[in-house]
Amino acid sequence: MFGIKPQPAVFKNQTIHYIRGMAKRVTGPEIERLIQLLAKVPGLGPRSARRAALHLVKKKDQLMAPLAGAMAEAVDKVGICSRCGNVDTRDPCTVCSDVTRDHGVIIVVEDVSDLWALERAGAMNAAYHVLGGTLSPLDGVGPDDLNIAALIDRVAEGGVREVILAVNATVEGQTTAHYITDRLSGLGAKISRLAHGVPVGGELDYLDEGTLTAALKARTAI
Ligand code: ZN
Repeated sequence: MFGIKPQPAVFKNQTIHYIRGMAKRVTGPEIERLIQLLAKVPGLGPRSARRAALHLVKKKDQLMAPLAGAMAEAVDKVGICSRCGNVDTRDPCTVCSDVTRDHGVIIVVEDVSDLWALERAGAMNAAYHVLGGTLSPLDGVGPDDLNIAALIDRVAEGGVREVILAVNATVEGQTTAHYITDRLSGLGAKISRLAHGVPVGGELDYLDEGTLTAALKARTAI
């Protein structure tokens, strides 16, 4: 009813609830800030951020200090590669400067995480180009918002035999692939894209119709 103030809890369970509602700070503002910042890291929610912060505080010398040092050093040196759009501490990046790679083949990816994923697979020893996203007219992302012009320049310079479009199999990814294919036509490089179909170890019964259709269309002779 109106005008009735919340009463102090009487029963045990209610007492606990009451105390939770009046939760007091248990750490200083420095640790609070650490938790808030850690909670912004992908994969860490508030709960994991608290656990991580507590672990760091407990392992101050073994982990927290080296981590702080590594982050301070990275902040000073990290930048975007002017040639390919990769993130690194040098420009041109480690991948672009690697003379053991075949720079005649450029694998085009949406994000640096895709570059890392392809490198983990270790299937090709090629160069890369990071777009920094996909075309998405609804979100206002056009060609000028992506690292596309630099890719056209790289291919136009000559020496590139093949451009592999390793974009995601999403509508935006495929739209981006079509746009880049149009822009690269006539520049002399072969343009290919990743196959769509049955994943390694996948069972047909579990696949969606779109994947099965793509797998049938992209069938290969044995
Ligand atoms: Zn680079």
